[in-house]
Amino acid sequence: MKHRAVFVVIAIAAIAAIVVAQRRKAQANVGPDAIVHFIADTEHELSRLPAQSTRMSDAEEIAIGDQIARDHLGELGDQGNTPMAEYVGHVGREVAARAHRKLPYTIHFVQDDTFVNAFALPGGHVFIGSGLVNLMDTEDELASVLGHEVEHIDHYHCAERYQLEARLRRIGIGDLAGIAELPLSIFRAGYSKDQELEADREGTRLAVMAGYSPLGAVRLFEAFERMERHRSAPPATPADEATRIALGTLSGYFQSHPYAAERKAQIERMIASEGWGAKLQEKPLEMGGVNASRPPGTAPMIGNR
Ligand SMILES: [Zn+2]
Repeated sequence: MKHRAVFVVIAIAAIAAIVVAQRRKAQANVGPDAIVHFIADTEHELSRLPAQSTRMSDAEEIAIGDQIARDHLGELGDQGNTPMAEYVGHVGREVAARAHRKLPYTIHFVQDDTFVNAFALPGGHVFIGSGLVNLMDTEDELASVLGHEVEHIDHYHCAERYQLEARLRRIGIGDLAGIAELPLSIFRAGYSKDQELEADREGTRLAVMAGYSPLGAVRLFEAFERMERHRSAPPATPADEATRIALGTLSGYFQSHPYAAERKAQIERMIASEGWGAKLQEKPLEMGGVNASRPPGTAPMIGNR
């Protein structure tokens, strides 16, 4: 009886994964990550490394992260020396300087408006796409996203994800060919709900310690809530359609679980409990995004342009 129930659950999960994959394919041309996202969403706690596992050393983690970054830098198109990349890197370094683990944090800005995402690798590499920066009005929002990603590294979420995958794929320490086979999607797909909320809390704490407003995180979640509402409404204008397509590419930082409202509520509770009420002043984004000059609170413009 128990086996039968397990079979039914697996069958339903498989069918749902196919439906999700098909629907995403129909909504937007966003690549093959739908199944990975579905698995990340549904097997949250199964994706954690078993507690008895030995953690790799910082030196091992840095070497592995450097190798993964080297293997994928070409396909991601990191623009290391543009003024925008410098600016994003500066904000990231300010935030990362407050992390617990003193790792060589490196911020990579990817000039690709269809890349509405940010993600981190073990050892210190953080990637952020111009598509996500385009959603922002303030430097505080940028600091909150970069803080969130740094904390996925700082709290070993990326290292655990790597160790789990390496074990499943039988990749040993120093197995460079094995590391090169790892798809980036294992780091782009997002983490468990608990880990995402932890990265929100601790990332916002880093941003506040670096002098930024915790409202940066709150306003980003509000923008995402507005986009979630767009998702259910029929597209009335080309801009709505562009929003819908961009929504299809949101993953990683803007996972559907936990919901934006829940993430926002957590930060609002922290603003009260941590006494951050006097630190709410935000600073406009200095450059970049197509939305940099739009009035705060208006709907973000996203999509290809
Ligand atoms: Zn995250």
